Amino acid sequence: MRGAPEMLLDYVTLLTAVGISAACLSIMVFLAWLMAPRDAFLLTVSLGGAMCGLGLLLYGFYVANLQPIVATSAFSVIYCGLAMLVGAGHQFRTDRLPRWMVARHAIAANVIGLPMLAAGYTGLGFVPINLMVTFLLLAVIVQYWKARRQAPVIITSLCILYGLIAASFLLCALAILRDGRTVLPGAPGNWAEDLSLLVLIAVVPGIGALTLALTQARQVRRHRQDAMTDSLTGLLNRRALFDMFGLRPLPRETAVIVFDIDRFKSINDRHGHAVGDRVIALFAAALEMHLADGGAAARLGGEEFALVVPATTAEGSLHTAEAVRESFQRLVNQLGLDGMGGTASAGIAFGMTHGAAFETVLSAADKALYAAKNAGRDCVMSAEPQIASQTRSKLG
Ligand code: GH3
Ligand code: MG
Ligand code: MG
Repeated sequence: MRGAPEMLLDYVTLLTAVGISAACLSIMVFLAWLMAPRDAFLLTVSLGGAMCGLGLLLYGFYVANLQPIVATSAFSVIYCGLAMLVGAGHQFRTDRLPRWMVARHAIAANVIGLPMLAAGYTGLGFVPINLMVTFLLLAVIVQYWKARRQAPVIITSLCILYGLIAASFLLCALAILRDGRTVLPGAPGNWAEDLSLLVLIAVVPGIGALTLALTQARQVRRHRQDAMTDSLTGLLNRRALFDMFGLRPLPRETAVIVFDIDRFKSINDRHGHAVGDRVIALFAAALEMHLADGGAAARLGGEEFALVVPATTAEGSLHTAEAVRESFQRLVNQLGLDGMGGTASAGIAFGMTHGAAFETVLSAADKALYAAKNAGRDCVMSAEPQIASQTRSKLG
């Protein structure tokens, strides 16, 4: 029970300080959301954090005036705030705020946690109160833990901090249970309560900082992804392809197929640039249909593409090149553009034979493509002479 001040600063002052600190951090998280509105989970964290801060301030009020209804209201607000933090964790992972899930958690915590305290059991009534806080914090941890791949160090640290608060509230429940009194003449005051307050003082700012770090990590990842992605087609760009394959020698059984759409300038001239863009996007779709595990599809520039096919043979790579060309032609025919054949030419080269470096293999495939263009377009040529004779094929 809380009586004479057993800490350097009195309990209510420290509690008020934690409440204000949580509220200020919520404002910072809110400002971060204004700067990155795509990360809507920040708004939810900020609202949830503000509610928790308000609840702590209310609880400080209870410690001073000891009216059970004040403590009940304080924890009701804290439960709603924590339920929003559970939702924020889910929203971080899925970009969608699960309103029903938030409501379910808030209702369950209110219904299970509050009745004993509301009925005036200011001793044992705090057992379900604290257990529900622990439960909600564990639910927050579960949500972030599921997304830990996105930023392992930050999310693990965040889970540890939420876990410390959860553990401290569990200890509070156990201490009150051990004390065993149904009604206390004052607010619960024991070593566990003091520890819990210290944990809150130490951990709440850390949770705020890690939440901000989380959105920063996500933005860095997005920028990196944007820098690697071709914006028109969503395929890898040339730079990303070199990042993926440029550093180590290409194995002998890996094929690089380079494609170029035939007489593409005339599509632009006859139908306009927008239609040209659509045709480019269709080629990307055709490439993705035939993308193998461990391979890559990239737009090298203009209407030139590359497909890396791992673990294949001369016949296999030819088959893939033809399959891409056929898919492209089928997709383009669906557009019904007059005077548009929807053909493309391709050149194939393999690792090792041409010195193994990706750049060398790509340039060999490019030369084969050039040969295919010179041979009248609408065909596949290979850098290997013995295959070239077999692979000349026309789609018509
Ligand atoms: P070839 O059969 O010899 O390949 O003839 P081609 O007309 O396709 O010639 P080339 O491959 O050199 O044509 C490239 C054209 O692609 C030139 C440029 O106007 C057009 N182009 C490049 N990038 C884009 C783009 O992003 N969108 C559109 N619509 N056109 C582009
Ligand atoms: Mg072309
Ligand atoms: Mg071209």
